[in-house]
Amino acid sequence: MSFGNIKLWRNKALILQEMVKGLRNYSSKSSLCVNLEKLRPLIMKRISQAKDDPLKPTLPVVREVLRARNALYVGVSTLIRHIPVWACKYCPEVYIGESGHLIRTCHGYRHRSKNKVHEWVEASINDIIVPVESLHLQKMFPDVNKHHERFDHQCIPAVVGLCLQVGVDVNDQSISSSPITPSFPNYDLKLIARQTVSAWEMLRSGVHKLLCVHPARVCKLCKEVQVGPSGHRARACGVLRDESCHCWKRAWVEDLVPSNVVWSRRRQDARVLVDQGREYYGHAPAVVDLCSKAGALVPSKYFCMMKVDGLSAP
Ligand SMILES: [Zn+2]
Ligand SMILES: [Zn+2]
Repeated sequence: MSFGNIKLWRNKALILQEMVKGLRNYSSKSSLCVNLEKLRPLIMKRISQAKDDPLKPTLPVVREVLRARNALYVGVSTLIRHIPVWACKYCPEVYIGESGHLIRTCHGYRHRSKNKVHEWVEASINDIIVPVESLHLQKMFPDVNKHHERFDHQCIPAVVGLCLQVGVDVNDQSISSSPITPSFPNYDLKLIARQTVSAWEMLRSGVHKLLCVHPARVCKLCKEVQVGPSGHRARACGVLRDESCHCWKRAWVEDLVPSNVVWSRRRQDARVLVDQGREYYGHAPAVVDLCSKAGALVPSKYFCMMKVDGLSAP
């Protein structure tokens, strides 16, 4: 046995010895117990270290989120100039393709009709990236933000609100500059599509990480988002007519960065999707479908919902 191996073996033996000691401590009959007095200074040191800057670990994530958000907006606004995108005149349905689909899923304005064919108009960036805003409250506590103060607050994008809560300066160019800089007119659309889809993934995963540490709330009824550990009382719920308070629950990434799922036409599908084939067609988040139509490879986690290798409609 070489010297190195002997050293390793001794270390392992020592660790094992400590583990056995530790196991004994679980028994009530054991005379060996942890001396908390000795551990106390160590515990207090760890607590004070954490208190120094509790936001420090989340700051890199905030930078990543703001950069990804910027890149996503630049990418999508470039792509929609080249890929036709349609929005229904009467409902929130969006479709990416040469012309709108003929699937009868339109519920009309304010859900007043059922199973109608959509009426398509040219879409804008907000049809692809659904804007989610939240009240920018100066104080974190809902009892301070009374109903009569409802006009005193401005609305800001909920993701930006979340980043502000962490304590960054969102106007700092170094943290929000976008890595996508299309050099008009000879830019590579496929490359922009690839960067946009990765910005989408980065934004969603970053927001998920931030929400695990800095919670936000969403109203179960009207989907209003409020950044912070509790909801506000500054504005009544839009769904309830009697000016009642919102019905808050914990918000997750889907509430702040909605997928906005659309019907996704595959290579094996007919040029126009029809109502009879709806069982066969797949779906995808609007950003993912747009980037895929512009030539980006889609992350494999979407293959299932997109029914990539599924049967075509008969
Ligand atoms: Zn519609
Ligand atoms: Zn509400």
